[in-house]
Amino acid sequence: MSGAESAGSGKEKRRRFEARPGFHVVGHRLALDPNASVLRALASHCGAARVAYNWAVRHVLASWSQRAAEETYGICEAERVPWRSWSLPSLRKAFNEAKHTDPFLRQWWAQNSKEAYNTGLANAAAAFDNYARSRRGERKGVAMGRPRLKSKRKARLACRFTTGTIRLDDRRHIVLPRLGRIRLHENAQPLVDAISAGGMRILSVTVRFERGRWFAVLQTEERRTITPATRPGTAVGIDLGVKTLLVMADSTGKVREVANPKHYDQALTQLRKASRTVSRRRGPDRRTGQAPSRRWEKADAVRNRVHHRVANLRENHLHQATAHIPAEYGTVVVEDLNVKGMVRNRRLSRRISDAAFGELRRQLTYKTQRHGGRLIVADRWMPSSKTCSRCGVVKAKLPLGMRVFECDACGFALDRDANAGHNLAALAVANRETGTGVAGDPGPTLAVVPKPRGAEQKTRTTRTRKGTGTRAAGATPRQRTETRDRRQDTGHEQLVL
Ligand SMILES: [Zn+2]
Repeated sequence: MSGAESAGSGKEKRRRFEARPGFHVVGHRLALDPNASVLRALASHCGAARVAYNWAVRHVLASWSQRAAEETYGICEAERVPWRSWSLPSLRKAFNEAKHTDPFLRQWWAQNSKEAYNTGLANAAAAFDNYARSRRGERKGVAMGRPRLKSKRKARLACRFTTGTIRLDDRRHIVLPRLGRIRLHENAQPLVDAISAGGMRILSVTVRFERGRWFAVLQTEERRTITPATRPGTAVGIDLGVKTLLVMADSTGKVREVANPKHYDQALTQLRKASRTVSRRRGPDRRTGQAPSRRWEKADAVRNRVHHRVANLRENHLHQATAHIPAEYGTVVVEDLNVKGMVRNRRLSRRISDAAFGELRRQLTYKTQRHGGRLIVADRWMPSSKTCSRCGVVKAKLPLGMRVFECDACGFALDRDANAGHNLAALAVANRETGTGVAGDPGPTLAVVPKPRGAEQKTRTTRTRKGTGTRAAGATPRQRTETRDRRQDTGHEQLVL
């Protein structure tokens, strides 16, 4: 669709909420315990958001296809149907007319809060913006497709409230426009206290159905309180792994480990059994239009509960594992792993996904900020596992199966992951002069440190040889021509941004 990019909102101002000085925006997710009538209202509001989204997508795309048709008739540019704007104000204006005239919407639009429709329209405006910006090359990441209709069966249920009566009534109840008082599953007393003390303000609330239950996600503006790390001068290097989730080596030489509980592997037997039951019952078939049987739905719900439990256990364990690291150390060094490349390895993908390295890194990032610390991300090609942490010689090869690092130059032997951790911690020490990351001055919390001359490349994603056995395509360093060990000049070329 040529020219579609120019249609949009016209104004290129993307307004972003700026928190007041000394405050920051924080999300709080609270599980809900809605009663039957609220359950119906929640589903209705989220369905309304989807209908509004689909309405907006059809509304804008109709002008595109009309113009494309007119072009084939040979109608000149000036006489074609004008582009329809997808800015939120113009979508809202058009929708507010349509809801009185459209026979489908007219019957029931008044049953839901206007925020439900606003959710859908705002999401559609963002989707068209993303598409246009992606086509103009202004958007990072994979190319965005043209917005498509959301399916009633597959769309995620979510609805966002930004105005109206939004408050925490007491520690057990939240009040939302139209939905009224909803019971919370958990105790929100800390939030109630913070709000009444003036340290917190609710900006918006999104209700969403996730992992088999309803949640309210409160976006709040919260006073930034920095709890200083107990050892601000000490750095810790973290080696992420599948065998042991975290191996932490600090700059004083102490090594600690956090085990990988492998929640998904633990549940595999249960999942196999549940899946077998599901597949023996009459499931839905889109080709024949066959509806699932009640027994299938029950079995499917049982299987989903296992998946939800695995996800909850994993989330809990990650939070516990990442809570104490930034609380203790002033500087945290992690590797920049190519997780996307690593999960392409068939033999390791399940375990790597289960370990959730990406989420781990995200949590470490914001938790170091909360403790006024510094997170250093080592360069992706830094040979942290292959470098001797005592003399700095880089080994040419270190297969994944080799769990103990043995230095050929000085005879130093140490657990492979601990050795990598020491190397990462040393990286922080080498960069110490650029700032201590002491509490009160968060400063640059994220720094990418370029490699200190190591392997040319750690992974090769194109053309992987067959039959590499247990060697991981993503995790095993494979070098081109380098066969001899070489001495590394540590610390001189490094730089903290
Ligand atoms: Zn050595």
